[in-house]
Amino acid sequence: MKPRGPQKQDPLTKLIRPQVRRLEAYVPGEQPTTPGLIKLNTNENPYPPAPAVLQAVKAAVDERLRRYPNPAADGLRARLAQLHGCAPENLIIGNGSDELLALATRAFVEPENAVRANPQGVARSTVQYFDPSYSLYPVLADIHGARRNPVLLPDDFSLPTPTQLRRQLQWDFRAALTFITTPNAPSGHGYATAALDALCAAQKGVVVLDEAYADFAPENALELAFKHPHVLVSRTFSKAYSLCFQRVGYFVGSPELIGALHKIRDSYNVNGLGQIAAEATLGHLDYYRRNFREIIATREALRKELTALEFEVHPSAANFLLVRPPRFSAERWQRELRAEKVLVRWFDPPHLRSLLRVTIGSPGEVEALLRAVKKILS
Ligand code: PMP
Repeated sequence: MKPRGPQKQDPLTKLIRPQVRRLEAYVPGEQPTTPGLIKLNTNENPYPPAPAVLQAVKAAVDERLRRYPNPAADGLRARLAQLHGCAPENLIIGNGSDELLALATRAFVEPENAVRANPQGVARSTVQYFDPSYSLYPVLADIHGARRNPVLLPDDFSLPTPTQLRRQLQWDFRAALTFITTPNAPSGHGYATAALDALCAAQKGVVVLDEAYADFAPENALELAFKHPHVLVSRTFSKAYSLCFQRVGYFVGSPELIGALHKIRDSYNVNGLGQIAAEATLGHLDYYRRNFREIIATREALRKELTALEFEVHPSAANFLLVRPPRFSAERWQRELRAEKVLVRWFDPPHLRSLLRVTIGSPGEVEALLRAVKKILS
């Protein structure tokens, strides 16, 4: 059915703020409704949540659905505080970490219009990030009317040192907010904590270390959230803990910055079943740690297989591989793989167009991908 309402566009678009009219929205990876597709396009975990987590969610579906959930997810914060050796005041839970990335933009960055006359206005209205990294960051800046400062990573996606960034001139050490995806997405490149520490120490504004994929990496930078009061570490239950559907993420950091985010979040921003699922997850970390080891082993096996098939494969510390496929364009590979019922992610920007991002699936899914690749090559 066509959308209902008068078809004349003219008067209604005028009611929408020009900034929103102009906005290019974030495009999430495809969530297909056709059955039988192998989904290696959105970095979901191939393994289900622990049986006890499913049980806990099912057991909670009762008359309490009519009530509001705990406003600040206190139970979950208490358990996370135990896990990370901090206080609940160091933690805020979000409706996915995406919500918290948006809240950080609203709490720490001035819209450009508000500070135009101020000599320090440029830095105070700047959202800074490396390119490539998570493609939501520029959209968050645009929504807020902030200035974007994307800074190109070198070809091998390694993290530049503060000295290199100083020489390169585009990096802003005073940027109000800097997002660093670590391990990097979509490259999978892992960053050493010591290197992140040096960069955080050089920044004057808030730094968010987006550790959505940290559980698949040899090290993480959580300690930097306690070492530097202007650093927040972002984590999510989506990827490593098989809970994309429930939308639960969190930030760790100083009570001052975390407190500012609490002030501007919705009163009941995390749904009740999500809180229950995440709390139950923390009671079964051994199950998830086994899954991380499986996924890492599958990743390394796939890396070898694809390399033997003449794909250029970037080293990865995440649950995906960034690859340059042989013979045809990456866009064509994506189409041909889709025809073989395998979904992978292709990104349009010029410096990513020749690459594909492949999520690490179960061994069976990875077998199916390799069968499809060999068929296309032959
Ligand atoms: N950060 C990065 C780097 C991501 O890839 C994603 C998932 N698209 C997120 C954050 C957000 O994850 P979620 O909102 O599910 O916690």
